[in-house]
Amino acid sequence: MFSRSAIAACLVSVLIQSANASDPRPNIVFIFSDDHAAHAIGAYGGLLASVNPTPNIDKLGQQGMLFSNCFCANSICGPSRASIITGKHAHANGFGQNENQFDQGQPTFPKMLQKAGYTTAMIGKWHLGSDPQGFDYWKILPGQGVYYNPDFVSPSGEERIEGHCTELITDMALEWLKNGRDKSKPFLLMCQHKAPHRNWMPQLKYLSLYNDTRIPEPDTLFDDYADNAIPARIQEMEIDRHMTLVYDLFALPPDQDPTPNLATDKSGVANLERMTPVQRKAWDDGFAKDNAAFAVAQLTGMDLVRWKYQRYMKNYLRCVRGVDDCVGELMKAIDEEGLADNTVVIYSSDQGFYLGDYGWYDKRWMYDVSMRMPLIVKWPGVTKPGSTCDLLTQNIDFAETFLDIAGLKPNADMQGVSLVPLLKGQKPADWRDALYYHYLEFPSVHMVARHYGIRTNRYKLIHFYEFGEWEFYDLQRDPEERLNQYNNPDYADTITGLKGRLEDLRKVYKDASDVSEKPADWQARYRAADKKP
Ligand code: CA
Repeated sequence: MFSRSAIAACLVSVLIQSANASDPRPNIVFIFSDDHAAHAIGAYGGLLASVNPTPNIDKLGQQGMLFSNCFCANSICGPSRASIITGKHAHANGFGQNENQFDQGQPTFPKMLQKAGYTTAMIGKWHLGSDPQGFDYWKILPGQGVYYNPDFVSPSGEERIEGHCTELITDMALEWLKNGRDKSKPFLLMCQHKAPHRNWMPQLKYLSLYNDTRIPEPDTLFDDYADNAIPARIQEMEIDRHMTLVYDLFALPPDQDPTPNLATDKSGVANLERMTPVQRKAWDDGFAKDNAAFAVAQLTGMDLVRWKYQRYMKNYLRCVRGVDDCVGELMKAIDEEGLADNTVVIYSSDQGFYLGDYGWYDKRWMYDVSMRMPLIVKWPGVTKPGSTCDLLTQNIDFAETFLDIAGLKPNADMQGVSLVPLLKGQKPADWRDALYYHYLEFPSVHMVARHYGIRTNRYKLIHFYEFGEWEFYDLQRDPEERLNQYNNPDYADTITGLKGRLEDLRKVYKDASDVSEKPADWQARYRAADKKP
């Protein structure tokens, strides 16, 4: 005889199982890369589309919706991630600079999904300084992580794993998807790559990809920033003056010492020294012929910039290819697991990136190249295949979108808007017509001055407040932001109006941070670095 309580327990168990088996809430697979500019994705078109196929990401676009005007709130790795998981601007979540520690005590969408019955996993680059919370499973790269034989941190400690980080992260995500997750629950899988972040070390199998291709150069590769405010001229992110031959480009023979005083070059050598002898030989062999020719050529001036651009872009695009492979492998596994009909797949990256545009690499600026994020969403039965949404969207919207997909309400203090109506093909009449942006890390690596601003569908106004300088662009007439029109009297009324709207946005988002001007102090300090033509 079974006892009454045993029968009751059995019934409860059956009820829970049947409830979970029929739980209609969609699974969410968030594939996220680092520094993958939209203009290095085939589906976004542009200069590189002809040489840079991203077949798996493009296919996702063909099956889902591509957001052509998605932007970050602060164009740098950690802050973008913090905005994504909290649904808040940096001043509101406390994570405005990469060296900050994320306060894990605050509400995040993974925590809320987990509490609501999702099983959750975070694999790869986390970059928030403190251990993840809200995940049933997590395994992350410490800090920025490294490309070859990376360390991974999990609740059980730290271990070094042999291989390339893009392949390792993909394999861990596949393993969790197939065998690791609680299959009685809907799931959230965050698969977050280091690639194609600096210092752009591709998988060995892609070292010769693009060897016979000349990557087209952007028109602005030799920009002199003559029309810009001072900050564009005192930055330290030029391919010409700041990209290093060893750390960034692996352009010296392997037996030669790196430039003695460049800390970056020394850390680049440390990256190479992590390789196994077999990996290292294949790596050195892959660049040997080109490096020998480079040593003989003794390039200078514009020729040297052009050579650096080619090496940089080839390695960057090789890293992109590895990420694209991951998208394909995850899509295949989702199919094989019978999950395709009820799984939302998202591809995005934390910000844009300069691919020689304006002569630069890196990000940080409010200019579109670095502010724009790729965002492609496939939601079977909801997103119209091959559709595009051009409404203004931002990374602070992601958390509320994922909660909405799961049928959950956002926290009252989240600052974004759910994109679910847009995913359904709606164009709400009251959709936002302006975005707020604030970059905070200065003085710091790459020396991009603090700035905040407003971007509407047509205009952009940027305030480099410490320098007491402004920039203004008419994006309709000048989509590449090549001519700062702040002092053009024809735009005076427009600029006055935008200044008012910018102050309104600061109130709406409750950004009370100090943006006072200190032009005498700051301009004097950096005047020597200003190479105004
Ligand atoms: Ca990044």
